[in-house]
Amino acid sequence: MSEKKKTEEKGITVKKEKNFNEWYTQAFQKADLADYTLVSGCVVFKPYAHTIWDKIREETKKRLNKMDVGEAYFPLFIPEKLLEKEAEHVEGFSPEVAWVEKAGNTKLGERLAVRPTSEAIMYDSYSKWIRSHRDLPLKMCQWNNVVRWEFKNPVPFLRSREFLWVEGHTVFADEKGALDEDKSIMDMWQDICENYLALKGLRGKKSENEKFAGAVFTKSIEYRLPNGKIAQGPDFHYDGQNFAKAYSIKFIDEDEKEKFVFQNTWAISTRMLGVLIAVHGDDQGLILPPKIAPYQVVIIPIIFDKHKKELFKETDKLKQKLEKKGFRVKTDKRENYKPGWKFNQWEMKGVPLRIELGPRELEKKIVTVVRRDNGKKENVNIKNLGKKIKELLDDIQKQLLKRSEEKLKNSIKEVKNIKELENAVNKGKIGYAKWCNNVECEENLKDKTTGIKSLNMPEDKIGKAKGKCAFCDKEAKVYAYFGKTY
Ligand SMILES: [Zn+2]
Repeated sequence: MSEKKKTEEKGITVKKEKNFNEWYTQAFQKADLADYTLVSGCVVFKPYAHTIWDKIREETKKRLNKMDVGEAYFPLFIPEKLLEKEAEHVEGFSPEVAWVEKAGNTKLGERLAVRPTSEAIMYDSYSKWIRSHRDLPLKMCQWNNVVRWEFKNPVPFLRSREFLWVEGHTVFADEKGALDEDKSIMDMWQDICENYLALKGLRGKKSENEKFAGAVFTKSIEYRLPNGKIAQGPDFHYDGQNFAKAYSIKFIDEDEKEKFVFQNTWAISTRMLGVLIAVHGDDQGLILPPKIAPYQVVIIPIIFDKHKKELFKETDKLKQKLEKKGFRVKTDKRENYKPGWKFNQWEMKGVPLRIELGPRELEKKIVTVVRRDNGKKENVNIKNLGKKIKELLDDIQKQLLKRSEEKLKNSIKEVKNIKELENAVNKGKIGYAKWCNNVECEENLKDKTTGIKSLNMPEDKIGKAKGKCAFCDKEAKVYAYFGKTY
């Protein structure tokens, strides 16, 4: 056996609970999701990861289609003068912008930014396209890559310098039109993340400090990872007229007056793959929710020479039968690997169900079905297999969301002061507190702790807090979640 096979056979060599960072690195590499390159912070998305991302895209596209959001593609390069038009926006992004300054040996007349996000380039076009109220609403998105040259330690998927996402940029004639989109976009993100990725997060409004650079307000869904750190998931930004004024996006309204438009931006990115790996995985590797798993079922024939032909035939027959019912099925008929090795490999890849078929099963017209999420095994009559597989996949999908919900719920700790907050966060918890939602208070909190900040504020509690802020002398206005982020 080659050296490579030997190491692969070992599986993941650390416990997730004990050394999460090392576990995560092994989990995505051994599941064949991604690999490092010579460019720090930029990874290869291998086909297995890209297929999962495609499932997220498929679901998002379906929903955006219904909302009449068109798909476009804008250039990767943004002229410096365009990027500089919105002051807060450029200030928020400038430390992370990668610049193109030369073509061959020739210095460019103007530096070009590699897009960190596309407001600047898109809104310059929007300002030419939008003339009248009849041009509105204008709803566009683009699926692309963006580059943010962060200097923090990169972590594949969770914090990388180049990542993939969809960025939506919608334009409305009035404030109400723009604000109405908030709920439909956030509901869409929540639906995809909960019902497809089986991930429960904290949905809410970001603080003044933590909102998107250039937005009036930002909403987000925040996810807790097993090491206690928080990853911001999909989001929605209401930009009001900030960009409209900076990029001169105006229209003639029905009353024949010239007005600035109202805008939103929103996104979901490949960071969710990182959250998916981190939240669901166990010591054996990934656990993928059936709805987004590239393969939902893997059929492994337990090969004995005497029965090989028959076993392979039955394996193919089962695959066809299940595929006809709409399941995504993989067979593993490789003869140079032992069944145990194959079991481990498909467990590492997180395939929700494994079907084992050996001579004993063949004779009795049954198969052994094993769940990836809890390891439970059962014999299933081949006649009822389709129905049983559906039941099991539905249940796995449900159980994974339930587990994620429970983990999140158990990690929230109500705190009454900075000391309690620090203690809670150091133990991997999310702090929950009455808060003034003040910029200085949040800055002070960051300084006095090791970088704890607000995650977001549950919307149903905004304006409902009574008494003093947990961290300063001001009156509390909201409840908010606090933690350390990726
Ligand atoms: Zn305060």
